[in-house]
Amino acid sequence: MSELRKIPAPHVEEETRAYWDGVDAGKLLLKFCRSCNSAHHYPRSICPHCGSDDTYFTETSGRASIYSFSILRVAPIPYAIAYVTLEGTDVTMMTNIINCDFDALEVGQPVKACFVETEGDGPVVPMFEPA
Ligand SMILES: [Zn+2]
Repeated sequence: MSELRKIPAPHVEEETRAYWDGVDAGKLLLKFCRSCNSAHHYPRSICPHCGSDDTYFTETSGRASIYSFSILRVAPIPYAIAYVTLEGTDVTMMTNIINCDFDALEVGQPVKACFVETEGDGPVVPMFEPA
């Protein structure tokens, strides 16, 4: 089982406050656009696909699958960085895969969101673990 490293706390902007409030409540939110009916991540007020400002947050299942990953074994505490594709969407998000055996990770593997403390008093951040 991998050792857990603490990452620096994210900087929370007004534009992303609802996202971080969701994470703090154990929910992974995703931004959708009413104009082009597509999702995006990271959350932005203006849709990156069509430029509309008619965007809103919705709660995801927190389930995803590994799209790609890499193990950083030379770091002081080795970790797995990955892109995961959120269930029911074509959105991939960069994250870490934790609570796992690095040598057992596979592309396409199902994972689920978990929420991890950061350095200092910052908000927790979403990461993923095997489902
Ligand atoms: Zn759009």
